[in-house]
Amino acid sequence: MGIDGALRLTQARGFVFDVDGTLVHRGPDFRARPVPGAVEVLERIRGSGRRLVLFTNGSHVPAEKIARALSEDGLPVADDEVLTPVESAITYLRRYHSGSRVFLFATDAIRERIAEAGIPLTSGDDAKVVLVTHADEIDITVLERAAHAVRRGARLLTGSYVPGFAGVDGIVLSRGAMVTAAIAKVSGARPQVVGKPSAAAVGELRAHFKLPTQKLAVIGDDLGLDIRLGRMGASHTVLVRSGTSGQLDLDRVPPRAQPDAVIDTVADLLGSL
Ligand SMILES: [Mg+2]
Repeated sequence: MGIDGALRLTQARGFVFDVDGTLVHRGPDFRARPVPGAVEVLERIRGSGRRLVLFTNGSHVPAEKIARALSEDGLPVADDEVLTPVESAITYLRRYHSGSRVFLFATDAIRERIAEAGIPLTSGDDAKVVLVTHADEIDITVLERAAHAVRRGARLLTGSYVPGFAGVDGIVLSRGAMVTAAIAKVSGARPQVVGKPSAAAVGELRAHFKLPTQKLAVIGDDLGLDIRLGRMGASHTVLVRSGTSGQLDLDRVPPRAQPDAVIDTVADLLGSL
């Protein structure tokens, strides 16, 4: 990392980390294995009195459950140090669709989390928003009802709209993206993403840190998700080569999509914190 990048990191008031490919790798058992130095990096930031958050696009379980699983696997993270598209969706719905009934595709745990947050849910004709997160089961008649709601003008929100994520044995397809695409196809609606990268996710970071996102550093392995998120909020962006973008030729990336700094692994941050 150049002098500028290191300087911007010492001045960052908050840190946003991607999880998979950045702080951990996962084995075939799906347990997280912390990248060497990851624990120390998080400790160093906390020790300096600054805050950090892990923003993952996983939306199958609540954020605190992700935090506890990572802690069990050797990456100590507090419950309030994890954000997901579910959290940014809740903040977004409260702000822009207050009181609107939401037709939700989600796991039971996420349905509970969103209901507890006071978001009114429906599976009927009164839906003003259709929100898709990770879903394990789909009833085609329910899918049709949601699509009709969108055809009548309900907004279509989705946690993530990338085809999938890198698993041990190749791509793990995004069920949420598949459900979203089905509704988008027959309604003609353009899905609005609320996870990484999106204006809703930038809004979530602003609300979480109570800081302008220009004061944050965003660190991740995915140019299209993490670096894009950071650039949308004018944050300082750091690409790590330990995951998805390991072999990426940055000379072929347009200037508007470039990270501010590139490092091999998160351990390289230790000298700049
Ligand atoms: Mg990643």
